[in-house]
Amino acid sequence: MTIDDGKVVSIAYVVRGGDDDEVIDAAEVAEPLEYLHGPHSGLIPGLVTRLAGHVTGDHLSMVITPDEGYGARDEAKVRRIPVRRFGDQKVRVGALLRFEQGGRAETATVLAIQGDYATVDLNHPLAGLELKFEVDVVNVREATPEELEHGHPHGAHGHHH
Ligand code: ZN
Repeated sequence: MTIDDGKVVSIAYVVRGGDDDEVIDAAEVAEPLEYLHGPHSGLIPGLVTRLAGHVTGDHLSMVITPDEGYGARDEAKVRRIPVRRFGDQKVRVGALLRFEQGGRAETATVLAIQGDYATVDLNHPLAGLELKFEVDVVNVREATPEELEHGHPHGAHGHHH
């Protein structure tokens, strides 16, 4: 079966990036990432585009630029905000915290803390990085009507309502 919109796809992968090509994330064949292929997959666009048309057993090596990945870094997204905006979350340097801004959930990396204020980076932690993926297509199947309606797979793993 060929990867196309409306298919549930399982992939094993290793992604590297940064100055040292360190491993950023990975999923093993025994516990693959399952996603619903299409424009709202939740995966980065470059990955979805390149996986289209492949079948179970295919191996892909790809380099994904920030344009097709998590976007370019925007220095305007490094800002000072009051620590109290983080509510009950523990604010410390290096922490990845969530807060609401204009009704949207944002993720912030804490860079520094000065008194009641934190300097945070609202860029995605992988923004600006060229990502090197090694991907194995583990399985491809038709999505069920319920999965299509919900917009996500209902596999053994990774399904939370
Ligand atoms: Zn669901």
